[in-house]
Amino acid sequence: MSASSAARRRSTGDYMDLETQLRVLEERVRFLSRVKVELERKLEEARREMYKLMSPPSIEATVLEVIDNERVLVKSTTGPNLIVKVSKDIDIKKLRPGMSVALNNRGSTIIEVLPRKVDPLVKAMEVEKRPDVTFNDIGGLSEQIRELYEVAVLPLKEPELFKEIGIEPPKGVLLYGPPGTGKTMLAKAVARESNAVFIRIVASELVNKFIGEGARIVREVFRYARDNAPAVIFIDEIDGIGARRADLGTSGDREVQRTLLQLLAEMDGFEPLSNVKVIAATNRLDLLDPALLRPGRFDRLIEVPLPDFNARIEILKIHLRKVKKRGRIDLEKIASLTDGFSGADLKAVVTEAGFFAIREGRRAVTMKDLLRAVDKVKDRKGGKQAVGGGGIIM
Ligand code: ATP
Repeated sequence: MSASSAARRRSTGDYMDLETQLRVLEERVRFLSRVKVELERKLEEARREMYKLMSPPSIEATVLEVIDNERVLVKSTTGPNLIVKVSKDIDIKKLRPGMSVALNNRGSTIIEVLPRKVDPLVKAMEVEKRPDVTFNDIGGLSEQIRELYEVAVLPLKEPELFKEIGIEPPKGVLLYGPPGTGKTMLAKAVARESNAVFIRIVASELVNKFIGEGARIVREVFRYARDNAPAVIFIDEIDGIGARRADLGTSGDREVQRTLLQLLAEMDGFEPLSNVKVIAATNRLDLLDPALLRPGRFDRLIEVPLPDFNARIEILKIHLRKVKKRGRIDLEKIASLTDGFSGADLKAVVTEAGFFAIREGRRAVTMKDLLRAVDKVKDRKGGKQAVGGGGIIM
């Protein structure tokens, strides 16, 4: 091999080595650029996070009015109404009165439109245009029904009658008695019989669940009732705001006080013969603030007691009306075994009996099912002696 051809081969080899190295280096450059892009992205993310952590809190406000192409009047939650500018990211044309927005910490600019909040009023108030309960669905309370008819249904249906005779019906009726005895049913039936809309609020929830909103909800509920009259406002668990207070030490107590005062103001503010009736319910009459029971407020008290023997038979009949039965059903026997049961307990007996029948593959309820159900409900209530099922003709 000549010297020149050896040199040529060596230089060809060197050239190939260099080319390989170059390719490797190019690949590394590409790889490192990808790493660089990724690290830059992470850095930007970290910067943004740091900016968020360091930025001062923004102020919540409600849009009152869009003044022109640049300025908006808002009510800030810190108190005053403010005229503010709008950040470039927000289309001022899309702002509407009532919208919730965030202002920068100086309160000078809208920086974000906040998602719409569900008004607590909507959650607190249960409305039924035509409740499905009639007085016929309520057992053993004929005296209470008669009284409610006179003091609530008649004034809503025939106010002229009262005007002609010259008497004023009570503005508010208070139903009191143990849980599950039919107080809600009575209020619903009053609404139904007087073709009135039924509005229910639970007073204890106003102060526990809707903190800071109790008084406003009371005001709005009365306004809603007036706008949709005739209406029955049913205030359940009124002791939640109407209990006697020892002192007003905590802010929670003051919240209860504000809500109660608003209720009293609403009660004082409408006429006895207006087409809104207020019915309240409590299990604890002994706890109630006497201010609630003064004339012109809840001045008609109606007791709704646990059903006696005959009332229990009536209630059982009502709940068994639609139930398919087989064999002889001895209602007197069931009534005698259910002393101390409320209407709700008796309804539970019928439902449980239905489940016993289903579990055994039957399509109808028997007396035996009902007796077992009495045992079960009694156990659940914490009753001591269980009832026996023997000796009953079915
Ligand atoms: P609470 O004090 O716990 O609110 P309440 O007195 O308002 O109870 P309701 O809610 O009216 O009781 O009754 C609960 C259920 O019990 C009713 O839906 C109904 O099925 C049954 N019930 C209660 N009392 C009677 C009754 N007198 N006649 C027929 N059913 C009744």
